[in-house]
Amino acid sequence: MHDAVSSFTAVSSDQGNLQMERVPLNDIANQFGTPCYVYSKAAISHNFLAYQSALADKAHLICYAVKANSNIAVLQTLAELGAGFDIVSIGELERVLRAGGDPSKVVFSGVAKSASEMQRALELGIHCFNVESEAELELLNNTAANCARVAAVSLRVNPDVDAQTHPYISTGLKENKFGIDIDRAPQVYQRAAQMSHIKVVGVDCHIGSQLVDTAPFVAALERLLALVDRLGELGITLDHIDIGGGLGVCYNNEQPPTPENYMAAVLPLLQGRSEMLVLEPGRSIVANAGVMLTQVQYLKSNGEKNFAIVDAAMNDMIRPALYQAWMDIQPVVRSDVPAAVYDVVGPVCETGDFLAKERSLSISTGATLCLFSAGAYGFVMSSNYNSRPRAAELMVDDDQVHVIRQRETIEDLFSGEQLLPSKAG
Ligand SMILES: *Cc1c(COP(=O)(O)O)cnc(C)c1O
Repeated sequence: MHDAVSSFTAVSSDQGNLQMERVPLNDIANQFGTPCYVYSKAAISHNFLAYQSALADKAHLICYAVKANSNIAVLQTLAELGAGFDIVSIGELERVLRAGGDPSKVVFSGVAKSASEMQRALELGIHCFNVESEAELELLNNTAANCARVAAVSLRVNPDVDAQTHPYISTGLKENKFGIDIDRAPQVYQRAAQMSHIKVVGVDCHIGSQLVDTAPFVAALERLLALVDRLGELGITLDHIDIGGGLGVCYNNEQPPTPENYMAAVLPLLQGRSEMLVLEPGRSIVANAGVMLTQVQYLKSNGEKNFAIVDAAMNDMIRPALYQAWMDIQPVVRSDVPAAVYDVVGPVCETGDFLAKERSLSISTGATLCLFSAGAYGFVMSSNYNSRPRAAELMVDDDQVHVIRQRETIEDLFSGEQLLPSKAG
């Protein structure tokens, strides 16, 4: 079991005792407390470099999707390897800067960019805006005119391809809110090309997340290329083609393509074309480079079901509650107590507050559990619901552990809040 686990994560097993790189996870839990997120610097680097080497023969820009895990130490690790970044807010752009990222390698996605966000991104000279509507194009043109800049633009088109993933993370169908209908795109490009402060540089799409097959990517790229050719006939040439993110990872028994497999499916379509290929991978870089550690507070049985009540909850990791996501969970130290089948649940007052259901675990009260594949859409989606301070984040680098985000304190919980003025008289 653990060997299978170690083949797709940063975690390995030494006779049932789990470690990340050269640090036992139990030591981390003891030293830094639980719940906490732990990321492997080597795994993040490895996953990024897999894309880079698969693209060695093609002009490319790999823009890590910051929303998957936006800790500045994670961004720093990727910036040092030459990554670009895909952002969806000005907050993410400021994180990239703080981490030492290069704004000229930033693409700005998102359906609702505000004028002030556009202005800041224009001042910094980002690579391009991924524009999602004609209204946004107009606002961008006006904003750029006001600050005497020219905005580099890629239109996010909706290729109407079914990513065959969970409906909440499927984004490339006509019914979704994202992008410009591909059939209308030539018209919008022609409008854009006539705008005084817009420079058309590319086209992009992002059809969904956690894709475990290359076929939808290939179908989307074929549609994009037909559009690029049509634009060429209209005298509009592009510098880059951005096929978004979305490559899936193994949480359970999925067998997603590796970046190498993925590029082997995509690159033949680009043979003989000069446009740079842009990618926006998020999950596939960080998901399996991170885990969440949590401690068993109570074991409880109601005759029909056993519950392991742990100190992490849906506010710390919402994926199981939000997407019915299955995530592997194992004790960090091997135990000889007989295994039983548990629902692993948190302290939050919601029935949806679970991390895992019906898992066979050999555990006692006080055991530390490792929730695998927690590096993407984990901490970034955490909240203070139930007035729970958010977890610490740690980065393992070989035999070193670095605190990359302090655990929040109780004082932090209401630091921005204010009491009403007391009544006079
Ligand atoms: C979320 C998102 C990504 C990253 O998706 P992953 O599935 O994490 O690779 C890339 N591009 C856009 C526009 C996104 O919204």
